[in-house]
This record gives sequence, C-alpha cells and structure tokens, in this order.
Amino acid sequence: MAGEPQPDCLFCKIVAGEIPATIVRETETTVAFRDISPQAPTHVLVIPRVHHPDAASLAAADPGAAADVLREAGEVAAQEKVDGTGYRIVFNTGPGAGQTVFHAHAHVLGGRDLQRLV
Ligand code: C5P
Repeated sequence: MAGEPQPDCLFCKIVAGEIPATIVRETETTVAFRDISPQAPTHVLVIPRVHHPDAASLAAADPGAAADVLREAGEVAAQEKVDGTGYRIVFNTGPGAGQTVFHAHAHVLGGRDLQRLV
C-alpha cells in the first residue's frame, strides 16, 4: 500500500533503525541524517518516514508529509548555520537525474560556494 515501509528500501531501513545513520534531527514524520558521501561541508538528507518513491509522488499522495520535509530542510539549514549564507535543497527525481534511492528525500547542501545550476 502507498506509504507503507518497503522491505528492500534502504531509507525505510534507516527509518526503522535497521541500518545506521548519523541522525541530526527527527520529527514524528521525518528523519534527517548526514549523507554518507557528502558533496558539501553540510550535506544532510531529509526523508519522510512514509515510503513514496520520489518527491512528486510524496507530494501527490501525502502533501502534509511533503511540507514537513521542506520545513525540516529549513530547520536543518538553520541548525547547521548555513541559512545565512545560502543553501540548496535538491530532489533528484528519476535515474536520469541521478536518483539512486527510490524513497523520497531532500538533499540539503551548504557551507561552500554552490554553483548556480539554472
Ligand atoms: O538523490 P540520490 O538518490 O542519488 O541520493 C541518495 C543519497 O543517499 C546519495 O547521496 C548517497 O550518498 C546517500 N546514501 C546515504 N546513506 C546510505 C546510502 C546512500 O547517505 N546508506
């Protein structure tokens, strides 16, 4: 069923505590943890506890959880003190865009000069 934990999903396992992660913030609906392969001094992933394959399907199925992910991305940026200089929130969507884990997640990147993409 939509939103239910998926047995083969890495991020569902992090939510369940079955795979270790360096968690920096948790709420009732989200978990935020450091990316294992950081691309910037601050590189934190914010995920919803519910399983949806990408950000757009999360927003369609559970707009409240999608809003929680975005709000938490801002809280992470403030906690990491990158909100003053600026930071980027990225949702890779689909393999062609570099998505490798098909559980919706926001990358929060900051702490270095971030090249403008668009
Ligand atoms: O957007 P994408 O799907 O590529 O992002 C997945 C991210 O999850 C990668 O940046 C990868 O380094 C990270 N990851 C992690 N912990 C794991 C497995 C992957 O932080 N155990």
